This record gives sequence, C-alpha cells and structure tokens, in this order.
Amino acid sequence: MSTNYQGPSRIHLSAFPPKERWDDWTELDSQAWPRRKERHYQLVPTTCFNCESACGLLAYIDKDTGQIQKFEGNPENPGSRGRNCAKGPSTLNQVYDPDRILYPLKRVGKRGEGTWERVTWDQVLDDLAGRIRKAIVEDRKGEIMYHVGRPGEDGFTERILAAWGVDGHNSHTNICSSGAREGYQLWMGLDRPSPDHANAKVILLISAHLESGHYFNPHAQRVIDGKTNGAKLIVMDTRLSNTATHADYYIAPYPGSEAAILLAIANYLIQQRLYNREFVRKWWNWEEYLEQKSKVRSQESGAGSSPQSGEIFIETVASPETKEPHGSINMSRLRREENVDSQSPDVGETPVLPSDRFEEFERVLKELYAEYTFEFAAQESGVDAKTLEAIAKLVSTAGTQLSSHNWRSVTSGVSHGWSVARCLFMLNCLLGAVATEGGVFPNAWNKFVPKPIHTPPHPKMWGEINWPQEFPLSMHEMSFLLPHLLKEGRGKLDTYFTRVYNPVWTNPDGFSWIEALTDENLIGCHAALTPVWNETAYFADYILPMGLGPERHDIHSYETHDSQWLGFRQPVMRAARQRNGEEVHDTREVNPGEVWEENEFWMELTWRIDRDGSLGIRQFVESKQNPGTRLSVDEYYGWIFENSLPGLPEKAAADGLTPLQFMRRYGSYEIKKKTGALYDENVSAEELDDIREDSLGRVFTRAAKPTSPNVVPLPGPDGDAEGRRLAGIKVDGEIKRGFPTPSGKLEFFSSTIAAWGWPEYAIPTYIRGHVHPENLEPDQTILISTFRLPIQIHTRSSNAKWLNEIAHTNPLWLHTSHAAKLGVRTGDLVRVETEIGYFVVRAWVTEGIKPGIVACSHHMGRWKIHETGQKQMMATVKLDHTGDKWGLNREAGVGPYESSDKDTLRIWWNDVGVHQNLTFPVHPDPISGMHCWHQAVRVRKADPTDKYGDIHVDTAKSHEVYKKWLAQTRPAREHSPNGERRPYWMLRPLKPAREFYKLKR
Ligand code: SF4
Repeated sequence: MSTNYQGPSRIHLSAFPPKERWDDWTELDSQAWPRRKERHYQLVPTTCFNCESACGLLAYIDKDTGQIQKFEGNPENPGSRGRNCAKGPSTLNQVYDPDRILYPLKRVGKRGEGTWERVTWDQVLDDLAGRIRKAIVEDRKGEIMYHVGRPGEDGFTERILAAWGVDGHNSHTNICSSGAREGYQLWMGLDRPSPDHANAKVILLISAHLESGHYFNPHAQRVIDGKTNGAKLIVMDTRLSNTATHADYYIAPYPGSEAAILLAIANYLIQQRLYNREFVRKWWNWEEYLEQKSKVRSQESGAGSSPQSGEIFIETVASPETKEPHGSINMSRLRREENVDSQSPDVGETPVLPSDRFEEFERVLKELYAEYTFEFAAQESGVDAKTLEAIAKLVSTAGTQLSSHNWRSVTSGVSHGWSVARCLFMLNCLLGAVATEGGVFPNAWNKFVPKPIHTPPHPKMWGEINWPQEFPLSMHEMSFLLPHLLKEGRGKLDTYFTRVYNPVWTNPDGFSWIEALTDENLIGCHAALTPVWNETAYFADYILPMGLGPERHDIHSYETHDSQWLGFRQPVMRAARQRNGEEVHDTREVNPGEVWEENEFWMELTWRIDRDGSLGIRQFVESKQNPGTRLSVDEYYGWIFENSLPGLPEKAAADGLTPLQFMRRYGSYEIKKKTGALYDENVSAEELDDIREDSLGRVFTRAAKPTSPNVVPLPGPDGDAEGRRLAGIKVDGEIKRGFPTPSGKLEFFSSTIAAWGWPEYAIPTYIRGHVHPENLEPDQTILISTFRLPIQIHTRSSNAKWLNEIAHTNPLWLHTSHAAKLGVRTGDLVRVETEIGYFVVRAWVTEGIKPGIVACSHHMGRWKIHETGQKQMMATVKLDHTGDKWGLNREAGVGPYESSDKDTLRIWWNDVGVHQNLTFPVHPDPISGMHCWHQAVRVRKADPTDKYGDIHVDTAKSHEVYKKWLAQTRPAREHSPNGERRPYWMLRPLKPAREFYKLKR
C-alpha cells in the first residue's frame, strides 16, 4: 500500500493518503489490535473553524458506521499544507460533544434566568423575519444589528445585511486587532501584513507568533522553514513564550515600549545609511512630507503669507522628554490650524521640487530620528542598549528579506498601540522589504475573494451606534462600547444577533453587557447563533444551534504566504452523501439534531423578510437557475466556482468534475503562486484615458476600472475634482500601480492622520501608553491579559475534551522576585485589583516574565448560571448585584459526570480558571478604536475571606472610565476636514453609500 502523498506537500510530508484514494481509504482498526481488522474510510475535506487560520481538515468517515472517525490535516490546502495545531483534530470532540445544543431554543421566563423551551426553526424564522421586516418598513434599520466574532468567511453575511439595506454589521475586531491594522493601513493602505517567513533572512516577531499569533499554524510552519533555511529569529515578548524559546534574540521589553526599540533600530539604519535609498526615494511619500515642511519654513521666515486656514505646519524637533497627555513623545511635531479642509495638497498648487530634494529629505530624516538612541530605547524598555544594538545590526543584514509581524500583543495592549505596528513596518519600508521574497506583502495581494452570484448595493444609511463620530479613524466598529452607547441613549436595538460571539465573556466590562442585554427597552430581541453554550447565550431570547467547521459552508482566502488560494469549508456528511449519489437539499438533513448552517439560515430568513419581493430584498437570495425560488448553497457556491475562480473550471474538467465537485472533493484551490511586487507594475495603456497628473505624480484617468473576479476589499482613494479615478503614480517617468493610499505611495507622512486632528502623529512616532510608568501609581503594576495558550480558543473550544485535559486554568504569572516581595508562593490566592473591581486567582511564580509585570491568559474562566451548559469547562456560578455593584461567586467547579461519552466520567480537573475580563473597564484608543487591554492593577495576597474565582465590579465606575477615555477623542464633528464622518478611502466593513458619510447637521 503506497502512502506517498503526491500533492503540494510531498516535499514536507509523505504519510497522507493520496487524493486518488480518498473514496476508499483503508486503515487498521487500532481498537482491534492484535487482530488485523481493516476499516474503510471516505475522506472528505473541510476547514477548521477553531481559529482564524482556517487550516484544511480531512474527515475520515467510516463507511460502515457513517460516523466521523477522526480529523487530520488536508494536504491539498496550500495554507496549512496538511498540518494543524491541537485544536484542529479536536474538532471531533466538538462534533460528538454530549452537551452540545442540538435544537433551536426559546427562553422561558425572564431574560437571563437560564430556562428554555425547544421551538421549531419555522417559529424562529417567522418571528425574526417579521421583526426585521417591520423595522425596515418603519425606517428603523438602525435597530438591526449583527455582531460577529471571528467571521471565518469572506463577506457572505455582509452582503445579506447589504441586501436588507442595513448598516448593522458589528464585529469583534476592536477587541482584537484594530491597533495593528491602523498602523499597517497608515503606511500601505492595506491593514494586514502577509509576511514571507519561509524566505526571510531575518524574522522579527512582536508576539508569541509561533504558538498563538495570527494565522499561526500556517505562519509558524513557515517561520520554522525560514529558520531551517538559516534565518535568524528575533522575538519581543514581555512573557517567555514558547516562541521566545525558538529565538536567536529574545527580549522582554517593558509593555508599550516596543516602538521606542523599533525606532532606535530605524535610527541606526538611517544614521549608518544602511537603508535601501533607492526604494525610499521611489516609494515613500517624502515629497509630500517636504511640502508640509517647506510651508512651515516659509511661514517661520516670514517670506510667505500668513498661515492660511487649513495648512499643516511642522514645529522644530522636540526632545524625547517632551510629554503629551499619556506621555507621547514628539520627535517631529506637526501642528494644525483650525479647519483643515484638505487631506492632500491641492492638485497643481505645490511648488516644483528641486532635484536634490531627496538628499534634503535624508538630512531631515536623520534629524527626526537622531534622538532615538539605543540608550533612550534601553531606558524606556528596560532592555540593555548593547543587545538592542546587536539586534539592529542583525536587522540591517536582512536587506529585502526582513519578514516582520505584529497583530495583537502590544498593539492591542496599550493606548496608541497602533504606533508599534507603524514603527515595525517602517523597518520594512526602510529596507525595501515590501512585497519581496522574504519580505512583507500587503495582505490583499495574497488574497482572493471571488465575486458572488449577487452583489447588493451599499446601504443607504450610517450605523450610528457602531460608528460613533468620536472615532473617525477607527479601523472597525466600536463594538465593545455598545452597552455604554445604548445606556447613553444613542439608540436602541430591535433585533440583535450575536454570531459565534460571546461579548459577556470575551469583551471587557461583561457586567455592563449583562445590564444592557437584560434591559428589553435597549435590546428588543437577542438571537444567539452559536454551536456551543456560551455566557452571552444565557441572556438571549433565542439560542440557535449553528454548525461547527465540518457542518457548514464558507469560503475563505488568507494571507498565509505569497500566494492566492481559496479554502472551502463544507458539511462533510453532506459532501460524502452527494459523492455517493444521494441528494441533499438542506444541511439540517445531515447535521446532528437540527443543527443548521448559517448560509442557509440567512438566505431563508432574507427570503421570509420579503416573500413577495416587494421590498427589493428577495432578489439577492433568489435562484438564477429557477427564478422565483430561493437560492441553494449548491447553486451559490457552484456559480462562484464556475465563474469567479480563474482556471478552476479547466482544472476540474481535467479530472472529469464540475468546479463544485472539485471543491467538494479537494477542499481548496490555488489561484496563483507568488503575486510579487504589484505596486511596481506599469499601468496598462488601456487604463489611461484623458489622464491628468498632479504635483505628487498621482495619475488620474477617465478609463473605467478593469473588472476582476477578485473582489477583495481595497481602500478607495479619491479621484480628482473632474471625476477621474486614481490610476497610478508616476515614478521616474513611468506610471506604476503604487499603493492604495491617498498619495499612491508608502506613507511615511500620513496626510490623513494629520488632517483628521492628530498632526503630531503624522509620521512614525513613539507614544507613551496608558500603562507607562509615569501613568502608574507607585503600588501599581501592569497586568497582561492578552496572551493565549495555544490549546484553547475563546468560546469555541469548550467541551473539546482532549484540549480541556491539557489546559483548563489560568494562574497569574508573576516573577520570583515580585512574588517574594508579596510573600506569595505558587498556588496561593492573590487579589488583583483593577480600576473597577477585582478578581481572585492563584499565583504561578516563574522566572518566565519580566520582573514586576504580571500576566494571566485568556480563554479560561468559563462559567454558567444554570445546570444547562457545557460541563467540562464551565464552572457553575451565582451572579449577584445591588444596583451597580456586581459579584460573581463560584458555586461549583467541574467534575466527572455521566453522558453519552464515557470519557466524561474520567474528568479529573475541577478548576477551570478565573474570568478576569469582567473586571476590566473599556479603554478605547482614540485613534484606532482598539480596546487597550493592559491593565494598571494592584496585586496583593488575598484576604482570608476571599475565595478562588471571586469577582466584584462596580459598573458605575466602568461608565466613568468609559467617559474618561471618550474625552480623549478628537471627534469628526470638530476635526473632520471635509464634513464627513471618516476618511472615505479607509477600509470599512460594509461601506455605506458615499452620501451617508456626511455628518448630520
Ligand atoms: S485552530 Fe489550529 S488547526 Fe484550526 S485553524 Fe487554527 S491553527 Fe489551524
């Protein structure tokens, strides 16, 4: 029997069943040993839904029992190449979880009491469709909201909302990654990095990326490929992670000081002229920066006219000791006159730049960053200056092969954390390691979102509650502020969907969420779409059981490396039956109980909202093959695979398959390997019609944008005043595609951030965060709550028994010296006091953390208020409150119990950790909108009356903290340069029509 896998991974792995034999794969039954009993399997691909990486899985479906025997990696998936982390194969536990929700449930009694009755899907659909239709007809579209955790798909539900005409998309992104996104978008227009780790010479990670970062299994295997090829690995992490143990250089900076280190490295490259001068000259928007500077000079010398309203000025360089609120340091300060009315210089108004201006810029650059010495960075970070210098020297050897990455970590930890990503990517921009082999690509170039069968128009409204005008530059919806915004009377919700999302537990300030969710005047109806029990579902009106990874359809394409590929998640039992010639019309026919999939649910709900088509909504879920009937998932995906994936129909035909059959059989398709430096491509002559060039070399055209089957969201810089669109940028006489930024170049100087009220941060800058030592009381320290163990993932992995056995608690990491001062030993109870309350947790004394800092992992501390729920990882608790004072007390941990799975009798652990997030107030970053997770805390030995897991919170205080942070914003109403709510060019999920960007009077 051959086991050599003849697929894309054959170089790395050789033990996969060849795809030609996926209809009948034979393995020996381990349970029958020592007898040689053969078992026959049908192998069906899908993708994992336990984190955002969407690695390929292969379900082994026993041909005799019809049961899934196991999940292994799908070697056909170009992102994961057959490999998974522990959570992938554990999908099996979730499928056969004895406690899972199998039927739609409706609450009985008060919201939050935790009692339920079974209802039919028809009852649910008719009720929800009726409510939504009424809200639409009565022009209350702002009262409909869909709030998603990790989407795991590319745009399906956004289009459903667009079909309803509702700007009600809400996401978890501002508790996750908005900080990093902001930093990347300001440079390159796109908000995510796609590092080519495998081909790098130097890999620089600000996170525990090998074990738990973004796309971490696909990236981790490529980091190891890079190391195997000789790359050096640098890791910055306050906590000694598993990733850190693989590093050539591991440093543990003071949390929030990373940007100071990165700018010290940048300064070294600049002062030593070790940067890629040609790349900087061609691709940075330094001319635009100098233009601003020259205006200052002319104003300072009195040579020019008086400052005009709307001009942006640069002040002289300040010393590192200059402090702004929050301790920001302005190495180059820009100040802005009132009423700036343009983001970019007016076309044709700028003086012609002399040819030696680049040398002038280089001189300025040297001055701007000269004070970011290694000594300064050492003082801020606590890391020895010599070590920082050695790291800088190593970075300088990377050339265009520097792969760097930051996603969460400090960018989601401290105020202005976005500036860390901005300073990190500056190193790539200095070295020219952008879209190069071994460098970092803009994510959208390594992504393919195929055009769907129907494309509804942009909603004609603005979702006020999700996009408050105080945060015009936020990368995503201000989702974690929802309870406060509702309490302030900024709106109310008629129908609120949470979808694979658990804000009561995952978000900060969970008790404020409970207060909002239990107030039926604020939220009329809450439907929780979830595959597993979660804390938020206890405060729902409907709990709607949704499929796990092998029980639902989705397509996705992620920036795992320099490539474009599409993964297909599918209900494996449906695909197996269809492969065997059976007809399946609805995924409920093959899923356990009445577990459904979302796509069919949303299509059916949309159909019922507008049964007769009179609202113009139904058309977007209507079959093209059989007009007048609802679209099926087979037609939906069949159309996409047939029409929007170049080369797939031909490839499928070569195998005697339709495109849909091909995707059902193999689960993925690679559209293109190596996209290369798209910014450097020449714009074709057909795209250049009646062109006009402005002073910055931006070229505008009247030619229509070429159509593409790839509809990946891209930023939309404005065209010229005469209606031409931006086609490219003139560089050394050639018209290049450039970057999707307002300038068309990499933006060292962000005219956007300058024009929208934050000129002091227009260039990459170190900004002291909210937990900088100068902002802490002497008895306070920092709690890092953002690190995660690789074994668990938020809400989804509860009742994955293999994972639960490995990791089920979250003690507080504190350094040996710190513990000695507190008189605490491992296992002792400690009380951690935040701004709004406290929690009681056990100590874990370790050398693996920076002295004086404490850390507690998330994904733990799950709870239930009723016996109904997941019993392997959810403690039973009692919630009490008097007015604003809330308490959570643990009544029972977990233990063995009888169920359909005999392993539940073997549960030996009792402790499931402590829910720390309840005690965190909201900290919205005034620019990115990111919740800044790091907490200034006091840690002490617990009181004798304290019990493990005790939590106390004052939600009145949490509202005060919210108001304090809100006061730091620079609202659109006061700072918008053009009367709009946010820069139109910036990415935004479900963009409304342009006219709805206008601020209301
Ligand atoms: S949980 Fe693991 S296997 Fe699943 S998608 Fe994420 S990294 Fe891949």
